[in-house]
Amino acid sequence: MTSIPVLVTGGAGYIGSHACKALKRAGFEPITYDNCSTGWEDAVKYGPLARGDLLDRERLDQVFAEYKPAAVMHFAALSQVGEAMREPGLYWRNNVAGSLNLIEAAVDAGCLDFVFSSTCATYGDQDNVVLDETSAQMPLNSYGASKRAIEDMLRDFEAAHGLRSVIFRYFNVAGADPEGEVGEFHQPETHLVPLMLDAIEGKRDALTIFGTDYDTPDGTCIRDYVHVCDLVDAHVLGLKWLQDGKGSRVFNLGTGSGFSVREVVAHSQSVTNRDVPIVEGERRPGDCTKLVSGSTRAVQELGWNPTRSNLEAMIRDAWRWHQTGHYDK
Ligand code: UDP
Repeated sequence: MTSIPVLVTGGAGYIGSHACKALKRAGFEPITYDNCSTGWEDAVKYGPLARGDLLDRERLDQVFAEYKPAAVMHFAALSQVGEAMREPGLYWRNNVAGSLNLIEAAVDAGCLDFVFSSTCATYGDQDNVVLDETSAQMPLNSYGASKRAIEDMLRDFEAAHGLRSVIFRYFNVAGADPEGEVGEFHQPETHLVPLMLDAIEGKRDALTIFGTDYDTPDGTCIRDYVHVCDLVDAHVLGLKWLQDGKGSRVFNLGTGSGFSVREVVAHSQSVTNRDVPIVEGERRPGDCTKLVSGSTRAVQELGWNPTRSNLEAMIRDAWRWHQTGHYDK
């Protein structure tokens, strides 16, 4: 039986590479579309790499014609809050204009099932509000705003052209493939867990905690951490949901449990049995105080079963990858 091709934009990146592995295991053929600007060719292990940029409509058309994907999983995006605050144009161009190209190319090719990687950053800061899929979207930064705009675009293209989408709003993704084949590797790195592991290994002097005066029990920001393998399993379920004709739907991907930066540091010390050198710093512009999912929709409707999304497993898997894994351009 030949496997069904799925176009995976950003398949050379952290989440996209794990998604390719999950797709392959589920019997699909992942075709990575990536410009390798922040991703790694070495991370493309489970299907072909079609090098290309989302802003290059001609190249997108070629790739749709060559591989005839049955669906798109769209991960490719710039995703750093700090950078988004400094350079909003990058986010509106790469994320929004790039996604518009991709969506138009998909529609023109008759590829109408679309799984989209969105974010809890579209909700913004909403104290004492349970964040579920019906919550208002009030992003604090251009990253969240760009993702919200793409969500709107998907709805418009459904109304006009019948494009069906499953939109996943991720909370904080961490961990790595437990088999060590792929993992998290950004340059520059901006995410809490890999920066902390770098500090443990002495690759940087210390982890700076961004803000200790937030209105939380220990003064540091609270996030809902999801294991990357659980996250990509949800994407395969989302793809099957679309293939089964169940129609467009938005799902939060979080566990409902929040951990502060200091709690993540404490867990890391106990998992690695090493000290995390820390420095207390200023707040990072654009950060929300607390982002925790209040929804069980993915569990109830998709049958999602996030078995690895506890801090111990996420840090253990990230630590293993951190010590052994790497990519070269
Ligand atoms: N954070 C931190 N120091 C760092 C990087 C991140 O204190 O060097 C905090 C950040 O303020 C946030 C949490 O860790 O509260 C997670 O940040 P990350 O950049 O990993 O993900 P984000 O929440 O921005 O998606």
